[in-house]
Amino acid sequence: ALRCQDLYRFFRAGDEETLALRGVSLQVARGETVAVVGPSGSGKSTLLGCLAGLDEPAGGAVTIGGEQISHRPEPLRAKIRSRRLGILLQSGNLLAHLDVRDNIRLAQAAAGRKPSRSPESLLEEVGLSGRGRAIPTELSGGELARAGLAVALSNEPDVLLADEPTGELDGQTEQVVLELIRSGARRGQGVLLVTHSAVVMRIADRVIELHDGRIVA
Ligand code: ATP
Ligand code: MG
Repeated sequence: ALRCQDLYRFFRAGDEETLALRGVSLQVARGETVAVVGPSGSGKSTLLGCLAGLDEPAGGAVTIGGEQISHRPEPLRAKIRSRRLGILLQSGNLLAHLDVRDNIRLAQAAAGRKPSRSPESLLEEVGLSGRGRAIPTELSGGELARAGLAVALSNEPDVLLADEPTGELDGQTEQVVLELIRSGARRGQGVLLVTHSAVVMRIADRVIELHDGRIVA
């Protein structure tokens, strides 16, 4: 399971201080899908960054399968991240100058162990067989979302963390991406999704609502 306890995160810009997270605790169990919702600026992406070990909370702790990822040296965080987590950020998770297959290979190399799946089988799973040699700018929005998912799933993560995974997709492509996420959950993957979409919320076992950095529902 992924667990966080009493997370705090402040941002300081000049005299202004933003309390982006104020004591957030949650957990995502094996096979469970949790949606995080809330208005723009409520702290959703900040929470995801802290859970992924990409950002350091000022207070509180994050553990994955009992292993602490917060407040550890970055090389160790990177290892835990690439072995245990699949991450889809709002900004995307593909390197622009590498084709899709090499993006998958790079993610697998970062885990520092023998990959359990081939890039080809991942591409086939997301419906991109034959597109492995394409670079991100050559893909459509829906293809990009699926390529991003292939990279996020390339090390068979315990938990998938996704920030608006179906952001600008049409209804049909959204369904394809959601079905991929659901099949991961059926295999025991924990899933935490940030979303504004009612369609995405419907696949969640639980919905957590953030407001001003606090869980309000
Ligand atoms: P959205 O739905 O628009 O993506 P969000 O819920 O993901 O919003 P966050 O990105 O987590 O919101 O931002 C939470 C608050 O923290 C906002 O007030 C934002 O301006 C502030 N914030 C986030 N990142 C930084 C940063 N690097 N420096 C300063 N302030 C930041
Ligand atoms: Mg955000």
